[in-house]
Amino acid sequence: MYQAKAYSAASSTSPLASTKIPRRDPTDTDVQIEILFCGICHSDLHQLRNEWASVMPTVYPLVPGHEIVGRVMKVGSAVAKFKPGDLAAVGCMVDSDGTCPECRAGFEHFCPNLTLTYNFPDHHLGGVTYGGYSESIVVDQRFVLRLPSNLDLAGAAPLLCAGITTYSPLRQHRVTKGKKVGVVGLGGLGHMGVKLARALDAHVVAFTTSPKKKDDALRLGADEVVVSRNSDEMQKHVESFDFILDTVSADHDIDALINLLRREGNLTLVGAPSKPLAISSFSLLMRRRNLSGSNIGGIAETQEMLDFCAQHNITADVEVIPIQKVNEAYQRLLKSDVKYRFSIDMASLKVE
Ligand code: NAP
Ligand code: ZN
Repeated sequence: MYQAKAYSAASSTSPLASTKIPRRDPTDTDVQIEILFCGICHSDLHQLRNEWASVMPTVYPLVPGHEIVGRVMKVGSAVAKFKPGDLAAVGCMVDSDGTCPECRAGFEHFCPNLTLTYNFPDHHLGGVTYGGYSESIVVDQRFVLRLPSNLDLAGAAPLLCAGITTYSPLRQHRVTKGKKVGVVGLGGLGHMGVKLARALDAHVVAFTTSPKKKDDALRLGADEVVVSRNSDEMQKHVESFDFILDTVSADHDIDALINLLRREGNLTLVGAPSKPLAISSFSLLMRRRNLSGSNIGGIAETQEMLDFCAQHNITADVEVIPIQKVNEAYQRLLKSDVKYRFSIDMASLKVE
């Protein structure tokens, strides 16, 4: 075991502050990674504030961070896929049983014995797992991804959550040329959804509550932009969408979005507001519409997404910050003031 520098929160109302955390010495199947960049996901903020208490109560101290890219420092004797000096990436999961039907089908993220990257029981050291707001991490090789070398590292980090979380449902719902696709909320997930849906050749409509993001939405790849609080703009799109991806982090009018679906269209929720959303059954039954959810993606699919992004030269639009600005970044996330993902330059942790 060794001590690593990190940032943690002591309670749901505490700011993140410098600390040291235990990390295990790499086992035979482990990869030890020096973390270079870590994205800030709204899930980090939800969990710091214990907003998902009923599903996933937060254990403090909390070290968030599940959009990790870095360089391999050391590998265990049974690791063939990586060697010291390689680029590597870690997303939202660090372990699963590997034997259940979900794991065997490539759905590690649905394994009943899944270990998430932070705030989950740590089977090696006891306590809970600690995430990527840290100088290093030790992860079983099955959960370490290969990072294509042409991707900018700061912009690639958010692919590990925002990228896979939007890529997976777009693929699942066969988004392709000729499909009209909506992406709701232009934050970290939403801006990746726009880029990926565009790369899949769909007709992309971005929905935002922030009129000042309109030009950016078009630059990111949207064919059209709708200010969702403007009912005239919404009305123009009634019953026209094949698929809508909803990435919104707070309470919002989901019925108004469902009514934009054509017959048998699908709205998939990836956003995870803390309170239940109100849905009128009529919005669904009148046009035999579908409402679904989607959660990250499996390891093979995450690698597929990274390779797809490398092929299409897609990374997140990031604002790179030192870790010392992390609390300010959280305040800005709460105001939807993010363009379009914060990526922490972990070199800044060296001065702590
Ligand atoms: P984010 O960067 O903060 O973006 C959320 C966006 O939602 C905001 O930028 C804003 O976009 C829009 N929004 C915020 N409040 C709103 C409101 N009251 N009404 C309508 N729109 C609103 O967050 P993120 O990191 O993309 O995460 C989004 C959500 O997905 C979070 O709940 C997060 O926990 C969840 N998540 C789920 C998964 C999964 O596997 N399912 C994975 C990662 C994250 P505009 O300014 O354009 O309106
Ligand atoms: Zn995330």
